Amino acid sequence: MQWLQNLFRRGKPQIPASLWEDCIARLPFLHYLSDADLERLKALCETLLDKKSFIGAQGFQLDDETAVAIAAQACLPVLNLTLDLYDDMAGVIVYPSQFIIPQSEVDEAGVVHEWHEPASGEAVSHGGAVVLSWEDIHAVDGTGFNVVIHEFVHKIDMLDGTVNGRPPFLTGFHEALSAAEWQRIFTTAYDDFTARVAECEEQLPEDYDDERPEHAALYDKVFGDLPLDPYASRHPAEFFAVASEAFFVMPEPLAEDYPEVYGMLAKYYRQDPLAA
Ligand SMILES: [Zn+2]
Repeated sequence: MQWLQNLFRRGKPQIPASLWEDCIARLPFLHYLSDADLERLKALCETLLDKKSFIGAQGFQLDDETAVAIAAQACLPVLNLTLDLYDDMAGVIVYPSQFIIPQSEVDEAGVVHEWHEPASGEAVSHGGAVVLSWEDIHAVDGTGFNVVIHEFVHKIDMLDGTVNGRPPFLTGFHEALSAAEWQRIFTTAYDDFTARVAECEEQLPEDYDDERPEHAALYDKVFGDLPLDPYASRHPAEFFAVASEAFFVMPEPLAEDYPEVYGMLAKYYRQDPLAA
């Protein structure tokens, strides 16, 4: 816990100005925020770092820069809402690289299949932690990919007890939102996106192997026109999380292909990254 002592050695959490400026410079997608917004974001980060434990796992030594960078991205979705949305979170655990999550599924014949899948991040339900891979936190430049926002948005979605891609509507913030309209807009977009991903998959050869450069290039060409990572087609909850990543990090393709989803997210987060 060396880093905590450095950051908070005066008792009251305070991120040094130079550390904060470096952090902002490394997250260019924050450019749409005003100076006043950035000040509020910094204050939220200080509260989050104070209230929650941030720890490294598998020998990973968490430093101030990494902890502040995670906090800044975690606080972005709740900047105009409330940090209370993360009350149901034990803390943040950072692995040096991808980690393995045991998976299981029961098939139609009732047979339980179990396997292990490498992950960049995981949001553990029922008060659990957000788990992140440090390597993947850094793999954000120039793409719509943002594992921190993705996992914290899952935490918000989980708050009402179901992970379904429809986050809880909050008193005082979301009176103008309609659950029926949310359902219609997200279901229509999810169905359309899933069909587009299926069409793309049909264009890949049967012996597709992402280790082969010519196949990887073909993959980029075929899937390159999609406004979101194809992972969004896995489940409506993933669609919401991936669309939220894009909303904050690379909003143009999302707003172009699914303007109603962009509009609904702008109303939910009470932010408009494209308006600045
Ligand atoms: Zn996810």
